[in-house]
Amino acid sequence: MENLLKRKKISVTPFRERVLSVFAKYSNAIPLSLVEKELKVYNRITLYRTIKLFLEKGIIHEITLSGEVSNFGICSENCDTIMHQHRHIHFKCTKCGIIYCVEVDTFPTVTLPGYKISQLEIQATGLCKNCN
Ligand SMILES: [Zn+2]
Ligand SMILES: [Zn+2]
Ligand SMILES: [Zn+2]
Repeated sequence: MENLLKRKKISVTPFRERVLSVFAKYSNAIPLSLVEKELKVYNRITLYRTIKLFLEKGIIHEITLSGEVSNFGICSENCDTIMHQHRHIHFKCTKCGIIYCVEVDTFPTVTLPGYKISQLEIQATGLCKNCN
């Protein structure tokens, strides 16, 4: 985890490591409220700054599904400060409500004549592995 911070050229602080370890603990995307619950003791402003930094540096990404609070998922290696490169699908389970980042072998390519796509997000709902 410390390596991930170094690779993304972020100076390692004990707090940043703690926040990162919360994200690493879950295999799915989590809302900020869960990060807060896991941290137990934290400074709210420091936490918000850390989340913002992680988003900017391509460590985590924000997933916003309509009518839902934002969830945050850990990024793949390909993400950087310029662009998030996600080749996975955001899947929301309608039964347990968990949002997963699901890696796929072949991510669909979409071309829009006259438009330049920098990011493409695919969202799906249904039943997750645990619920179906
Ligand atoms: Zn990303
Ligand atoms: Zn489920
Ligand atoms: Zn994701």
